Amino acid sequence: DATIYYDDDADTGYLDDATVAVIGYGSQGHAHAQNLNDSGIDVVVGLREGSSSRDAAESDGLNVATPQEAAAQADVVSILVPDTVQPAVYDQIKDELDAGDTLQFAHGFNIHYNQIQPSDDVDVTLVAPKSPGHLVRRNYEADEGTPGLVAVYQDVTGDAKEQALAYAKGIGCTRAGTIETTFREETETDLFGEQAVLCGGVTSLVKQGYETLVEAGYSEEMAYFECMNELKLIVDLMYEGGLGEMWHSVSDTAEYGGLTRGDRVVDEHAREQMEEVLEEVQDGTFARQWITENQAGRPNYDQLKTAEENHEIEAVGEELRGLFSWADE
Ligand code: NDP
Ligand code: MG
Ligand code: MG
Repeated sequence: DATIYYDDDADTGYLDDATVAVIGYGSQGHAHAQNLNDSGIDVVVGLREGSSSRDAAESDGLNVATPQEAAAQADVVSILVPDTVQPAVYDQIKDELDAGDTLQFAHGFNIHYNQIQPSDDVDVTLVAPKSPGHLVRRNYEADEGTPGLVAVYQDVTGDAKEQALAYAKGIGCTRAGTIETTFREETETDLFGEQAVLCGGVTSLVKQGYETLVEAGYSEEMAYFECMNELKLIVDLMYEGGLGEMWHSVSDTAEYGGLTRGDRVVDEHAREQMEEVLEEVQDGTFARQWITENQAGRPNYDQLKTAEENHEIEAVGEELRGLFSWADE
């Protein structure tokens, strides 16, 4: 079983004498920087010249410097720019890392797939909230936590884990529980989850269901409600009480139909495909493909994005959501 750390297991004293440079002020960066600052930890935000994030960081009351300057001042450098630009940003700041400093990540991709090769005299750690950044900030302000992950890739000081836990406590993750993992496990499970289930799997399920109904002659509006809108209600029940609460809440007919038909739709073939998708994550095939795609200027990515934006369910959904104010919440 995984080890889970809570507030009592973490001591922000490990960051008392430290300055944390938060490089990037986007989804995760703004939340980490503000939460650490509110936890009494010295923070400097590192942003490139002309950064569109500078005004936000300054009006939030934080010190802003260039990534190089921020890293030079810091003992812990938290890399919170998009994964695809991290290797270039790392090249700009690597000479500012002193022996015994910490290089900190919120996702293991660049370390695990060797896109960043840190020098062997720094600690390398990961603190990854399992949530978008705006919730990391909102939860902290509400005195609530955000579940997170902690991992150590390289420990030269002997207290890399303690310091990472201090960081996790500073951003509110040990309030909710922070699971110990490795860079490899975090990276591979994160990629698999978003590809096979969360982002890829579920959107394909929705589109295929919608298309099946519309092609059989049912109205687009009915297909949208059945295959997309109601998904939220089902997922909310699973989030609150697992599969059991969901099955309990739907009708017996829905339960019997789902239990007898679900595995026919997402069947052995789907399972084999999932295993292949996982293998491509594990053997680096996916990482190489994504890195090459970026180097080429994202031609396939742009094409796929456009096709998704143009799917009929998007236009139908936009119109219907506009008619029903309850969808705003
Ligand atoms: P964002 O896309 O929100 O980061 C945007 C920030 O990065 C902005 O401040 C932007 O500044 C800066 N930036 C962008 N490009 C560059 C560049 N070329 N050079 C310098 N700065 C740049 O990132 P996320 O917060 O989404 O992701 C950060 C890390 O957190 C990633 O490792 C990600 O995997 C991880 N993570 C993200 C989660 C999420 O929900 N978003 C969840 C858990 C982990 P500018 O205004 O100058 O462009
Ligand atoms: Mg330094
Ligand atoms: Mg992810």
